[in-house]
Amino acid sequence: MQSLHLEAINVKLPLQEGDGLYTVTVNDGRWTTIERQEGILVSSEHVPIHSLEFDELRTTALIDLDGKVMLPGFVDAHMHLDKAYSLPWVRNRSGTLLEAIENYRSVAPTFTKEIIRDRIVKAALSSASYGSAMLRSHLDVPVHLGRDMAMRTIEAALEAREIVSGTIDIQYFPMFFYDPAYERELSDFASEALRMGIDGVGGSPHLSPNPETNIAWAFKLAQKFDKPIDLHSDESDDPSTKTIDIYCDYVRAGGYGGRATAGHLCSLSAMEHHEAERLIAKMADAGVAAVTLPAVNLYLQGRGDRGNVRRGVTRVRELAEAGVAVAAASDNIQDPFHPFGKGDLLQIGLMTAYAAHLAKEEDIVSVLRMLTSIPAGITGLQNYGIAAGNPASFVIMDARSEEELFQELPSTRWIYNKSKWTFASKLSRFGMENPSFGTAISPI
Ligand SMILES: [Zn+2]
Repeated sequence: MQSLHLEAINVKLPLQEGDGLYTVTVNDGRWTTIERQEGILVSSEHVPIHSLEFDELRTTALIDLDGKVMLPGFVDAHMHLDKAYSLPWVRNRSGTLLEAIENYRSVAPTFTKEIIRDRIVKAALSSASYGSAMLRSHLDVPVHLGRDMAMRTIEAALEAREIVSGTIDIQYFPMFFYDPAYERELSDFASEALRMGIDGVGGSPHLSPNPETNIAWAFKLAQKFDKPIDLHSDESDDPSTKTIDIYCDYVRAGGYGGRATAGHLCSLSAMEHHEAERLIAKMADAGVAAVTLPAVNLYLQGRGDRGNVRRGVTRVRELAEAGVAVAAASDNIQDPFHPFGKGDLLQIGLMTAYAAHLAKEEDIVSVLRMLTSIPAGITGLQNYGIAAGNPASFVIMDARSEEELFQELPSTRWIYNKSKWTFASKLSRFGMENPSFGTAISPI
């Protein structure tokens, strides 16, 4: 029987204002108290977490974290769960975005609903096992290539969400590709998808024949259904690609500040600084959030360059300093857009720290916010974070400082979400008196 009450002592909370260790309590899936300790507590009643098997953990009310780090559950605000693990079927010889799109499109008709559903489930559970509590996934829905194929992905996505709903939450933003020749089919399809339970409007206007018409169409749809909007924006090395400029105009005109997100923004890093500054200020003023996808941009961008190769990662520091909400996210997992990755947002945090030169102690805390509270705000999560009254959703990691998280990328994690422990791996670097090397992550 799962313990309804939980008390953890000697907890390190890097995102809390005060330094030091904390005692935290959870009752019936909600945080009840978060109290700062006067130094380390020694208690014979509290069991060291690293000594507990998964089943024991579920029934133990008093645990000792021995200084380990606890963060609120990660929020991965930009993924492509429907494409995850497709790499063995879809390769990308040139490593470019265009080849990835073309190759995926040529094989997509062979992916059944069950295949897509199972890939989403696998990717979502893998992400959950590393500590994510909420995912936002874009979906490939090329209506102009066939409505059935696009609808198959929507149905697969909704089924997958239901399957994993006891462990993790997912939002879906289909990437509607606007082509004026197919406007009616696209509008019908998009309306149906939104009525079926899709969460918002996505797209990639910079890939459309007419970006402004695409953006205008996306806003019309989002406003009609009162849904948020999240567009892939300027995923290009070309500094003259600036759909974000038009996007901001529509956000302002439609009163969409705080409900609009721009992913990638690669060209922002390639353009002249004064022009980038103008666009960043415009984003801050309009209330457009940004999501950086360092793994995929480092892989796909700059492929035509020799010598000083553009790496595509947007201006993370400048965006954040201008007051734009910036999150870091996974994007693709083991597919032609990105052959690596596993849904571990801590790994993406490390890449962000490298790519954006964010490595001072306070910078690392900023990066951790890009994986937690900032994407929680972008995705509209209510009552998020380790505070009394909020739902308890957290990940404990086998590290004793925020720096150590990125130094060690600890594989040992204990994850609690939806009123229960959902995953635990028991390989503690600090619990050497009771090591259990090789114990696999145990799903519930
Ligand atoms: Zn993407």
